[in-house]
Amino acid sequence: MRKLKPVKQPGEVETREGMAFELLARLPVPMFVKARDGRYLGVNKAWEEMFGMPAASFVGKEVRDLYPQNPEIAALHAARDRELWERPGAQSYSAQIVTPDGRRRDTIYYKATYPSAGEPEGLVGAIFDVTARARAETALRESEERFRAVVDSANEGMLIYDRSLNIIAGNRAAERIVGLPLAQLIGKPGFTSLLTCVRADGTPLPEAERPTRATVRSGQPLTDLRIGIQRAGGGMTWLSVNTAFLRRVDDTDYYGLVSTITDVTQQTNAEARLKESEARFRRTFELAGSGMAHIGMDRRFIRVNRRLCDILGYREEEMLKLTGRQISHPDDLDIINEQRPSLHAGEIKAVRLEKRYVRKDGAVVWVKFSMTVERDAHGKPLYEIAVYDDITVQRDTEARLKESEARFRQTFELAASGICHVVDGRFVRVNRSLCEILGYREKELLGRHVKEVSHPEDRDVTDADLARIRSGELDQARFEKRYLRRDGGVVWCDLAIALVRDVFGMPLYEIAVFDDITERKKSEAALHAAHEELKRSNAELEQFAYVASHDLQEPLRMVASYTQLLGRRYEARLDQDAREFMSYIVDGATRMKQLIEDLLAYSRVGTKGQDFKPVALEVPLRRALFNLRAGIEEAGAAVTYDPLPTVHADEVQLGQLLQNLIGNALKFRSNSVPRIHIGVSEKNSEHQIEVRDNGIGIEPQYYERIFMVFQRLHNKGEYPGTGIGLAICKKVVERHGGRIWVESRAAQGESQGSSFIFTLPKRGDN
Ligand code: ADP
Repeated sequence: MRKLKPVKQPGEVETREGMAFELLARLPVPMFVKARDGRYLGVNKAWEEMFGMPAASFVGKEVRDLYPQNPEIAALHAARDRELWERPGAQSYSAQIVTPDGRRRDTIYYKATYPSAGEPEGLVGAIFDVTARARAETALRESEERFRAVVDSANEGMLIYDRSLNIIAGNRAAERIVGLPLAQLIGKPGFTSLLTCVRADGTPLPEAERPTRATVRSGQPLTDLRIGIQRAGGGMTWLSVNTAFLRRVDDTDYYGLVSTITDVTQQTNAEARLKESEARFRRTFELAGSGMAHIGMDRRFIRVNRRLCDILGYREEEMLKLTGRQISHPDDLDIINEQRPSLHAGEIKAVRLEKRYVRKDGAVVWVKFSMTVERDAHGKPLYEIAVYDDITVQRDTEARLKESEARFRQTFELAASGICHVVDGRFVRVNRSLCEILGYREKELLGRHVKEVSHPEDRDVTDADLARIRSGELDQARFEKRYLRRDGGVVWCDLAIALVRDVFGMPLYEIAVFDDITERKKSEAALHAAHEELKRSNAELEQFAYVASHDLQEPLRMVASYTQLLGRRYEARLDQDAREFMSYIVDGATRMKQLIEDLLAYSRVGTKGQDFKPVALEVPLRRALFNLRAGIEEAGAAVTYDPLPTVHADEVQLGQLLQNLIGNALKFRSNSVPRIHIGVSEKNSEHQIEVRDNGIGIEPQYYERIFMVFQRLHNKGEYPGTGIGLAICKKVVERHGGRIWVESRAAQGESQGSSFIFTLPKRGDN
């Protein structure tokens, strides 16, 4: 047996067989030659290397000697050899072998018998080690399987498109998410062609915007394209679609596309809800009536609402550069900081306080401040939430209220009037003056029933009006009533009562103001008594005047008539002086008679007057003018009068009144022809009647005096008269409830006459 040997020197080759062996020996492929009986005739160098065995030690052995540990491999080769002997020619098969050093190899065996014709003598074999390739194939297969498993188990849907953008493959998740079986999807231009799809804003998705088309058009992969699938039931499935190009290694052009699809319906809904809640929060934050801020851990404002900007007078962007401390009032700098550590440590839930800030314009604002802290999942403070309420006005109001209360207290205490507050008929607050008026000490009055200090006879005089005040019918009421002092004395009070209600109109307390009018009451009583006394003595006087004048007439008449008789009978015996003296006596008696008659008339005004009845003023006027007709004619006087009213009066006395006034106007005439006018004017509740003349007039200093009994300005030589006429006028007018006075322009030097004016009440009940 020969063995394959390393290449010899050229020319050493002796036979064709030898040359073939030479060639085999050089080939880098493991080769062997076996005899018909199965023994190895030779192996080449590559074989030696593969099996780690020198040719010399193996030639002459059989295949079973090569695999002492693996007889099944040897059996395989032996069986194949037998096939070859039976059908000579060539043969190839793959076999997994194990080399003596234990390496497992995937191989392909090529074997051929020789010689090529006739009965074979042996065979030549070549071994191709395909281990690497087989491994690679396995790895690829396994990787593909793994990949498929991953793809199929993925939650993300995946769809593979070919170059013409038709679906060629997809995973289970894609079926689930899209809601169509792959069988329906395959071959279609994307799932969007099969379903009603909308864009993120809810509008229909046009064909050109289908994810794959958009990707191809832009040449850019898509990320997170939101597409909604409108479901038949009205529901919406929201998808996030990503796309990518499929390219072969080293190939710039793509052969297809892959798109991944995630169902983001829940997330989208949650996002929408979050957005909504954020918007709601924003709105609340912005519209809140309180100022609000989020404050960072560096104390800077992170977020402020409009109201806070208004309260502090800064614009938002200015605020965001500030810390609360920077705008705090110098006196309130640290009052928040004092509590911050406890708040952050969770020892207190919130900080609540009132403090001052300084506005941008320098004004001070009082703020009701409260603050909590927002924490992360681990309880670490993230930021602070602060709420600010402007209480400046409230603070001012409180201050003003305090001031006004103090003012009220002072007024209450210092008032000269007694003041008390009464609830349920009992004193609840009394001032010093009231204590003085009633003679009690404050604590003796408080809680005491008001009626206890009332005079027994006046106890209930306030009841009816108080009820009307409580029912809202009356605002306040006034009374004069008596109280009993502690010492038993009686005190008269002018009492004003009003009810103080709260803002809802509910009664709070009654307020009563007392003025001590005891003195006034006393003088009123005295005045009344004096008045009564005066009336009585006046009446007596009138009676006396009447009686006196009446009774004086008789003796006077006797004096006069006997003096005249004496004169007539003894005329011759009386000398000149005696006659002169007698004429004086007669003259005096006549004057006295006139005085007595006038006095009688005067006294009769009060005692002998008639009852009032409606009187047309013209009637007594005409009678007066008739009585005066001689004087009027003699003086050539012009008497005129206005249309005259009807009055309620004593007709006879009115005639007397007018006759006296017109008579005076005639008597006290000047050098001019007398012009007398009776004028009438209407004042609210009375008629005003004026008797105007153009006579000598009256000096103002006599305006009062002329109305008194027997008062005259002239002696009887100048103008006759007794000085009682105007006194009677005054008495008549006053009996009718009117007044009389004089106006004259004599003061101006040149006389322009006098006006005697009297009034008569319009009402008939004077
Ligand atoms: P007698 O007319 O009797 O003097 P009176 O009481 O009527 O008394 O008047 C008092 C006085 O008032 C008169 O004396 C006169 O001085 C003055 N007097 C009255 N009427 C007029 C008048 N019309 N013009 C000027 N003086 C008058």
